[in-house]
Amino acid sequence: MRGSGGGPRLMLRRLRGLMADEISPQERLDQITTIVAANLVAEVCSIYVLTGDGLLELYATEGLKREAVHKTTLRLGEGLVGLIGQEAKPLRLADAQHHPSFAYKPETGEEIYNSFLGVPVLRGGQTLGVVVIQNRTRRVYEDEELEALETVSMLLAEIIASDELEGTAQTSSMLALQRPFQAKGFILSEGLGLGHAVLHEPRVVISLLIAEDPEVELERLEEGLGKLRASLDSLIEADELQLVGEHREVLESYRMFAHDQGWARRIREAIRSGLTAEAAVERVQNDTRARMLRQTDPYLRERLHDLDDLANRLLRELVGWTGPTLELEDGRDIILIARSMGPAELLDYDRSRLRGLVLEEGTPSSHVTIVARALGIPAVGQVPGILDMVRPGNPLIVDGLSGDVHLRPTSDVEKAYADKVRLRATRQARYAELRDTPAITKDGVPISLLLNAGLLIDLPSIQEAGADGIGLFRTELQFMVSAKLPKTGEQSKLYAQILDALGDHPVTFRTLDVGGDKVLPYLRLHQEDNPAMGLRAIRLALDRPGLLKTQTRALIRAAAGADLRIMFPMITDMSEFRSARKIIEDERERAIARGREPPRSIRTGAMIEVPNLLFQLDTLVTEADFVSVGSNDLLQFMFALDRTNTRVADRFDTMSASVLRALKSITDAGDRHGKSVTLCGELAGRPLEAMALLGLGYRAVSMAPSAIGPVKSMLLALDVGALSREMDEWLDDGATDIRARLAAFAKRHDIPL
Ligand code: PEP
Ligand code: MG
Repeated sequence: MRGSGGGPRLMLRRLRGLMADEISPQERLDQITTIVAANLVAEVCSIYVLTGDGLLELYATEGLKREAVHKTTLRLGEGLVGLIGQEAKPLRLADAQHHPSFAYKPETGEEIYNSFLGVPVLRGGQTLGVVVIQNRTRRVYEDEELEALETVSMLLAEIIASDELEGTAQTSSMLALQRPFQAKGFILSEGLGLGHAVLHEPRVVISLLIAEDPEVELERLEEGLGKLRASLDSLIEADELQLVGEHREVLESYRMFAHDQGWARRIREAIRSGLTAEAAVERVQNDTRARMLRQTDPYLRERLHDLDDLANRLLRELVGWTGPTLELEDGRDIILIARSMGPAELLDYDRSRLRGLVLEEGTPSSHVTIVARALGIPAVGQVPGILDMVRPGNPLIVDGLSGDVHLRPTSDVEKAYADKVRLRATRQARYAELRDTPAITKDGVPISLLLNAGLLIDLPSIQEAGADGIGLFRTELQFMVSAKLPKTGEQSKLYAQILDALGDHPVTFRTLDVGGDKVLPYLRLHQEDNPAMGLRAIRLALDRPGLLKTQTRALIRAAAGADLRIMFPMITDMSEFRSARKIIEDERERAIARGREPPRSIRTGAMIEVPNLLFQLDTLVTEADFVSVGSNDLLQFMFALDRTNTRVADRFDTMSASVLRALKSITDAGDRHGKSVTLCGELAGRPLEAMALLGLGYRAVSMAPSAIGPVKSMLLALDVGALSREMDEWLDDGATDIRARLAAFAKRHDIPL
């Protein structure tokens, strides 16, 4: 360190004192320039602030002409200051005047200064301003001076972000944070929710920037890093959590960063420059963000999320954050916001106040989505940037019917939604009144309305819905939401609880349907290019019969003395059905041989999800005790449309003649052989589509609990005989507008859809 201006340590002490003074923001900036210039032995210290017009304006200076303050401006990219602002990188020059970017601003009188050190003022990777020191002599500023100026820039970021200065870009973006904001995402779970934002893992707000004692801060950092690494190690290495695939990759990359000596070293350096451990983590993250935001490689930009998460985890370790409990104390309705979250974390929140969920990521098949749906919590996913726009406590509306998210809605929007919610509640109350009304069409045809379920948390809604039983129990959900493979006893317990709760009503258990988009993190599977058509569902079960055997054992144990219905997913060929049924029979005999009471009856069925089965229906229906159409997969494969790809989701009409003919061929086969046919895909839960299914001869349909009411009110008004006759004609005539005809039929006959 040259000269004897006091050095960075003393400077920081003075600046800390200054931050506590009751002075105007402008005075604070002025005094900062004086203190910095004096302590770093610079002839000039200037602060440029990014204005709402996108210009870097000279806000304060020591050494340049005072008249230039609030007059001199530079565009981003213009001059050295503009370059720093644009690239968000420091610049250190011994001979600034000969740098190609040097821009001469006569009003400042800076032509006599040669050496130059400038540092961006950053927040969240965005430039808020630039701070510069200059000297006449051609000198190269030392690392210590650069670090000191970077610390000053953090203080400046606090001042600028505090919204006290007028005219800054920050003020405009602060204003944006008060304005209504609307985004469209992807519907994960249907419904409407109004409430106040709670951030699942909020960014830690740092209140103390400058450290009393760097040694103490270094110790705190080591302790925080130790805890962070230990928590990641235990997540990855815990015996029961043999993660694979994406989860593991993300955690592995976290662990790699957490052990990265470069990262830790940069944080330590920042602490040595005078920052608290938290501020040092934030500063390093700011720099990383700034660098990565300018990356064009999407993979690297994506990694920024991981680094942000990691830095935030470390900050939480440092401040000892224990969860969003405080924010939840005020008793208001909650809309939860997260980048992504696990199913168990969602279950940790108070269900009675949780009105909605918004995720920056999240896909329809993610586990948290499954749980949100089971709990009936409206959820919208794939809303990038929502975390940057939301502040804790902001009013928020989640529209899980359109995919819209309204943040800080205007009173008009809020009112419109409040009305909608009321209307839905009235409708729901009407459906509730239908609960005990038998599901019989207007022309006297009884219809079996069944439920799709898969978790214990489904039970209350099963009881509320007034359905005839469970048409599809997705057993994989228990596997998907738990951290390790559920033991036979645990599986059996769940099945027994379900059977007990349903009493005399039938329950159809579907054996494990994993693979494809249903990932079990602890089950090591090969990476596949086309997992939907890969080693999944019954294919996996037959290749690794251990899983199916234990599951069957659990089912047989749970259904001792009762009727048991089991069906297999994704059957493609009869040989698979036969092999799977053989496993069931063997397990039944095994139970008897061991003196266990077997189920009173075991019925085995196949799901029709692969078009190949459509061409062996007679054999299938003869051999199977029942069949159930999985229209989600069947349509995916008929149309060659990835069901998880939102870009192609609505490309073809599911009510086209080809689909209806295929669906009809199944009920026809059922009728020929006197076998029961149900349909348990999403089609069954939409009133118009469900009406068409009844018209095609389906007499049992299985759906989400919330769909029972609307479907029942549709069928009570339906003359299914008349519809069947019309539909036969449409199919014979090769009609191309069947959806419209169905809607017109409903309208004509006053059928609520
Ligand atoms: C289907 O494919 O229609 C079905 C009911 O199964 P899942 O949605 O669980 O794949
Ligand atoms: Mg399926």
